[in-house]
Amino acid sequence: MFNWCRSPEAEEPRSAPTCSRLSEKQAFRDESNAQETHLPAYSSCRFGQDETTATITDKIDSLSKELRVLSLDMHDHPEIAWEEKRTHDILVKFMKQHGFKVTPHAYGIETAWEATYQHKEGGRTIGFNSEEDALPKVGHACGHNLIAIGGIAAALGCAEALKKHDLPGKVVLLGTPAEERGGGKIKLIEKGAYKQMDLCLMIHPTPLSGLIPMLAVSEVVVEFFGHGAHAAMAPHEGINALDAAVTTYNAISVMRQQLLPSDRAHAVIYIPENAPVNIIPDYCKMKCAVRSFEYKRLVDLQKRLENCIQAGTISSGCKVKMEWDYTYKDLRNNSALGQEYIDYMKTLGVEVPITTEALGSTDFGNVSYELPALHPMFAIPTGGEGNGNHTPGFTEAARTKAAHEEAIKSAKGMAVAAFRSFIDEGYYKTVREVYEQDKKDRSK
Ligand SMILES: [Zn+2]
Ligand SMILES: [Zn+2]
Repeated sequence: MFNWCRSPEAEEPRSAPTCSRLSEKQAFRDESNAQETHLPAYSSCRFGQDETTATITDKIDSLSKELRVLSLDMHDHPEIAWEEKRTHDILVKFMKQHGFKVTPHAYGIETAWEATYQHKEGGRTIGFNSEEDALPKVGHACGHNLIAIGGIAAALGCAEALKKHDLPGKVVLLGTPAEERGGGKIKLIEKGAYKQMDLCLMIHPTPLSGLIPMLAVSEVVVEFFGHGAHAAMAPHEGINALDAAVTTYNAISVMRQQLLPSDRAHAVIYIPENAPVNIIPDYCKMKCAVRSFEYKRLVDLQKRLENCIQAGTISSGCKVKMEWDYTYKDLRNNSALGQEYIDYMKTLGVEVPITTEALGSTDFGNVSYELPALHPMFAIPTGGEGNGNHTPGFTEAARTKAAHEEAIKSAKGMAVAAFRSFIDEGYYKTVREVYEQDKKDRSK
């Protein structure tokens, strides 16, 4: 038996090196006003944590073989966004078999599910996410099979520790569809799925480990409507929709020169299939996207992109229809949760750097705006350059035993970082303070 940490005031603050490492990221965020933000000190008390950590990691190790089978089953039957029906069913079945209360088709979303485990009354609620979707043609090229089993491992590990050490608390695992396209987590946020949680975590495979920023992104579908005409007999009677798209594309290319290095703009033109060259195209569709390091900057980029679209519309004389799709917000990794993850991963021999170079985007960014959240990237061996996420090489890598082992390690780190909030008031207080401070910073 051991004593749980209940009086953070009495404890020593965490060591200075810890704070300065964490401040690197904060300093980057605050570049504009050159301020460094340090984490408030919190309890360094670890009474009880060694025991719960051992319970969590033993449980995860004991599940590893079963999780490997589940991961391969998912990998061998990839399903794209919103179509993860089989994946939904096998994950729901697995969670039921392991004693969680499961709601299939949760929150009115066909391929979402929720699995919960409550021990005793009260306590905190910690959340994890298991992503489900694959990509068209290349299958699980983003390794969401590893994310799914990582979430399951962490949830089952934490539930086991609540039970064994007789602690009050609740674990919620959400099966989240459509990360690659459609923003499944945004729909789940709207439906209130995250409201019950005090914090939420997920892990993601990439070629390099790290706490890595992710960009805010917004996409717009653009349709130009012109007027068809004979391209030789009466071109003057035509209104050329393809010209509208080409002008828009070129305007975006020009705009790109004046973007910040962290911002991105992309566009593709869907030229009508088998369009005859002797008819002025009366219709053309495009998809355009802008990305930014921070969500608040994205609004400005959206306006600038709309101006590019207007340039194409006005110069061609077309009519235009613009439909903005979902927006993924930038990722706000909670630095207190992050440091706990980093510290634990070090004990497994895994270095997790805090980087400032952004990768892609994720709908988990939106989750990180709602509550304290962490989304560490864990490295899997991919066989070198050209095999990053969304490539056939990564699909292959996400199926290997080595990748599975890395997912298991990362799941342990995620579970340990989350579980401390059950047993250390000072720790959770700091997690919450970091979140509130970030909320203030991002609204400046
Ligand atoms: Zn992806
Ligand atoms: Zn992904």
